[in-house]
Amino acid sequence: MAKSVVFQLNDPSLFHEASLLNGEWVKAKSGKTFDVEDPGSKKIFASCPANDTSDVDQYVENSQTAFESYRIINPRQRAKILLKWHELITNAREDIATIVVYETGKPMTEAMGEVDYALGFAWWFAGEAERVRGSVAQPSISNRRTFVIKQPIGVSVALVPWNFPVAMIIRKVAAALAAGCSIIVKPSPETPLSVMALADLALRAGLPSGVLNVISTDNENTPAVSERLCKHPLVRKVTFTGSTRVGSIVARHCSEGLKKVTMELGGNCPFLIFDDGDLEQAVAALMILKWRTAGQACTHANRVYVQNGVYDKFAQMILEATQKLRVGHGVDAGATMGPLTTSRGIEKLEKHVADAVSKGGKIMCGGKQPVDLSGYFFEPTIISNMTSDMLTTKEEIFGPLLGLYRFDTEAEAVKLANDTNMGLASYFFTKDVDRTWRLLENLEAGMIGMNTGNSSCAESPFGGIKESGYGKEAGKDVAIEEYLISKTGTLTVA
Ligand code: NAD
Repeated sequence: MAKSVVFQLNDPSLFHEASLLNGEWVKAKSGKTFDVEDPGSKKIFASCPANDTSDVDQYVENSQTAFESYRIINPRQRAKILLKWHELITNAREDIATIVVYETGKPMTEAMGEVDYALGFAWWFAGEAERVRGSVAQPSISNRRTFVIKQPIGVSVALVPWNFPVAMIIRKVAAALAAGCSIIVKPSPETPLSVMALADLALRAGLPSGVLNVISTDNENTPAVSERLCKHPLVRKVTFTGSTRVGSIVARHCSEGLKKVTMELGGNCPFLIFDDGDLEQAVAALMILKWRTAGQACTHANRVYVQNGVYDKFAQMILEATQKLRVGHGVDAGATMGPLTTSRGIEKLEKHVADAVSKGGKIMCGGKQPVDLSGYFFEPTIISNMTSDMLTTKEEIFGPLLGLYRFDTEAEAVKLANDTNMGLASYFFTKDVDRTWRLLENLEAGMIGMNTGNSSCAESPFGGIKESGYGKEAGKDVAIEEYLISKTGTLTVA
């Protein structure tokens, strides 16, 4: 389809409607392409190669060749490449954010914020590259010595979602590169351009050709291309971020070759406000946690539980703050909430709202698509009187719907919060120190926000428990470990 949106970048050479193989910008063998749409206008702004399974092997084989030379580059050199990448992304911050705005619909300030957040991972893993170390032990047999060395695992594959295309890529790629692995990224079909721009900057930073390859494809070919990547015998590691449903398919593919896997999956995160909590602090946190990315984040508050003593006051405060939001296209300087990224998101929201209303939920604001905007927009929606039997309680909303629930006691709040098969993040607001410690211990989640809605930074491990996945990204030792193998050496000493 013909392009109907054109935008200018400061550096237009960062815009690649191509895949990246061995340092070259290439098409699919079939020559087929797919359109990339601006969700804020439903207009096409790019078309990228629709690679299929016949394209996959050359990416993997090239990645293996590149790995063989990259693995022996010393850690400081790898760290220098990562720091240069960090510098170049910082300089291209506005261009990367502009691409993200057109791909995802998020407002420019949010896209800039995502780039800044993502940069933290490039910086962090540059440091981690030099901190990899093994260990030495003296076994009980007197003439023996034993030690462990760490080595890069090999060709890695990253399958990534569209909601934070820059952060998800840098968090995975920087860890792999720091460890000495080569990596193939398969971007989401909604967001290939930002990934290509980042890959271009990695080449400019001095990353050898083939160490980072990017294979784009459309929604139709994604399952088969991903399966081929996961099952290829040369691939030793797969890192997936996306829904729990697709994560379990990917895990099955990886199980055949017993590949090492990281799974960053969906959330259904509870947000608890106690009578003694700072309500202004809680509102400020929730305004970001709920409405940023139009609610399309795995760590977003899916269920907001408010203790009875402050329920009415809090409901009024969050309503007033929400009514100040301005829904609009991401490039519109006044917009504070963008559209959903896909039409699938709108269908899901409509289903959730109808279900909640049919079971007694009361719409305080929103509940429908705005009539004056042509993209995948949905009004920020607050529903009170939420109950446990509703769809929104049971599954991730992934959209701008805030459901308010009541509770009486701390024990009840913990039970409600944990009543899910997910365990990504939990948040609570209280001034009681004893309760803070109890909740930290009793809430079932990989990340706990205490009087904050922010649970992620480069310095601490990111990841969930239960059906939110396994393995960690970011943080000291654990994240780089995902891309390493341990080798035990035993030596006889005369
Ligand atoms: P998704 O699971 O539909 O897709 C994720 C990736 O997998 C995309 O690249 C997609 O093209 C690909 N994919 C789709 N079907 C596939 C298949 N059958 N086989 C292999 N790959 C396939 O998720 P999404 O809609 O892109 O993203 C939203 C989900 O991601 C939400 O559930 C969200 O919670 C989760 N998420 C988790 C984290 C985290 O760190 N835990 C971060 C962001 C998003």
